[in-house]
Amino acid sequence: MKSPITDYLKDVLEDTRQGDAGEVAAYIPELAQADPDRVAIAVATVDGVVYSAGDEDYRFTIQSMSKPFAYALAIRDNGLDHVLARIGVEPSGEAFNEISLESDTGRPKNPMINAGAIATHALVGGSVSQRDRNAEIMTMFSAFAGRDLEVDEAVFSSELDHGHRNLGLGHLMKSFGVIEDNPVDAVEGYIRQCALKVDVRDLAIMAATLANYGQHPVSGDRLLQPSTVRQVLSVMTSCGMYDAAGDWLTTVGIPAKSGVAGGIIGVLPGQVGIAVFSPRLDEHGNSVRGVKMMERLSRDLGMHIMDVFRPSRSALRNVSSRELPNGEQATVYEMQGDMIFATMESVLRHLDNNPLPDHLVVFDVTRVDEFHDVAKRMAAEAGARLMDEDGHRVVLIDPDKVIAGFETSHGAELESYAKIDQIPQTDKAVRN
Ligand code: GLN
Repeated sequence: MKSPITDYLKDVLEDTRQGDAGEVAAYIPELAQADPDRVAIAVATVDGVVYSAGDEDYRFTIQSMSKPFAYALAIRDNGLDHVLARIGVEPSGEAFNEISLESDTGRPKNPMINAGAIATHALVGGSVSQRDRNAEIMTMFSAFAGRDLEVDEAVFSSELDHGHRNLGLGHLMKSFGVIEDNPVDAVEGYIRQCALKVDVRDLAIMAATLANYGQHPVSGDRLLQPSTVRQVLSVMTSCGMYDAAGDWLTTVGIPAKSGVAGGIIGVLPGQVGIAVFSPRLDEHGNSVRGVKMMERLSRDLGMHIMDVFRPSRSALRNVSSRELPNGEQATVYEMQGDMIFATMESVLRHLDNNPLPDHLVVFDVTRVDEFHDVAKRMAAEAGARLMDEDGHRVVLIDPDKVIAGFETSHGAELESYAKIDQIPQTDKAVRN
């Protein structure tokens, strides 16, 4: 069977093709030359499959979509506290290039607006020369994309020639001590970072690295710590779309970042990275058609982040009292999906509301993908109560060792087998 996903993406392009509302960015003269009718879309899964349609190989500059990745590197290289002392995390409700600095400290509101992004850039690599900082950005952005990226020199020098506002922001932040190094170098480096050339497939993979909590979907390399990615995604959610952030969160609901060349990336944690491209922009500097495409994806694919937490309803695949191959009667709980607070809660609730008829209780987690820490703690407590308070024998069926070395909260290790027919009779079982 041929996957229908690429055809679906083509439909999304077609359905949003009509109309030529919006203007290409003109404040960077070189960007004004862009062909306004280019359009592309890509979706990358966290295991590295990329679906794409339209001008999928067409390269354009990353611009502000570089900001979340630079923010991640700044945290990696300096620690979160050091970064937070210099750059806030509050939505500014203002345009991307606003002179948005706290009046007493000069601290920019957040790392997604230009002021915060310039200060962020100056932190990448820690205390290194600007040359090394630029090199580190090239290396790491190439690692995120999975291929060697290049700078669009024409866009870089065009923006530099007209970069007075960003230079002004750099000087102001230097005067407050938010930027410690030469502010002109920092702004130049930032503009170079914005001029990296990418296509939608590169961007989708970069976004999928964030969706995969910092582990590259294709190479498998751990590029960022999960805690760093959580910080980045939080800031993308609250500040990624500038003064349209609230509207975006309620309608599209995907942590995102746009760039003035016409790209938008979206990250659905644990699921996919998305990239769309179309150069005509609305008054916020977001791609008009790009926003439409993202709205469509969110609606059709159930991708609004407030809609995706549904596994709890199906955590219990089956519960039955039955005779095991060893001749013993047992109550068997078959669980499935990811065990998080909500799914584990439904298991605990079932145990609470239903008497357990048999001495032997089997938890079959063969179909569980992942056990989060909170779910392990909840299961550990349930194990202790079942065994020590209610006197049950509790057995795990865990062939993939999703909860390897599991202990109850009283420190007892559970019997664990790969298959249900390996469970020995109770009087022959060895209990730790
Ligand atoms: N390089 C651009 C600037 O600093 C990036 C802005 C953007 O993409 N929103 O103005």
